Amino acid sequence: MKNALILVDIQNDFCEGGALAVPQANQILPIVNDLLTQFDLVFATLDWHPHNHGSFAANHEKKRIGDRIILNGLDQILWPKHCVQNTSGAKLHAQLNRRKIKHFVHKGTDKNVDSYSGFFDNGRIHSTNLEHLLKKHAACLLAWHSIIA
Ligand code: ZN
Repeated sequence: MKNALILVDIQNDFCEGGALAVPQANQILPIVNDLLTQFDLVFATLDWHPHNHGSFAANHEKKRIGDRIILNGLDQILWPKHCVQNTSGAKLHAQLNRRKIKHFVHKGTDKNVDSYSGFFDNGRIHSTNLEHLLKKHAACLLAWHSIIA
């Protein structure tokens, strides 16, 4: 059984200076780069939205960032436009060591549902291929969970 590390959305828009920056996000970069060396397999998820994604406040009339709507039957908070496919904001941060990343998993690609998980969208309508990839490479999901917790 191999140990797998899943890097979740370490993209420019979630890092300092990005459209939806997490405060002090860049502090994880050296830690992650160090951690990478200790795993057999490294996967990276990418929030990967079409420009017309339903979670973007700009795509709804008279709505602001932080407002809540019902999107395709699910409660949805509205975000600034972020991680739009093939834009610089959607790229992995330049200081992240990508050499050990074995596979990239795109999420949030359906404009009608957001996707906070790397495994499936918020409505659990569609799965990404992350679970399949982990099983294919005989990675240990329990190990992954224990690292997160
Ligand atoms: Zn997103």
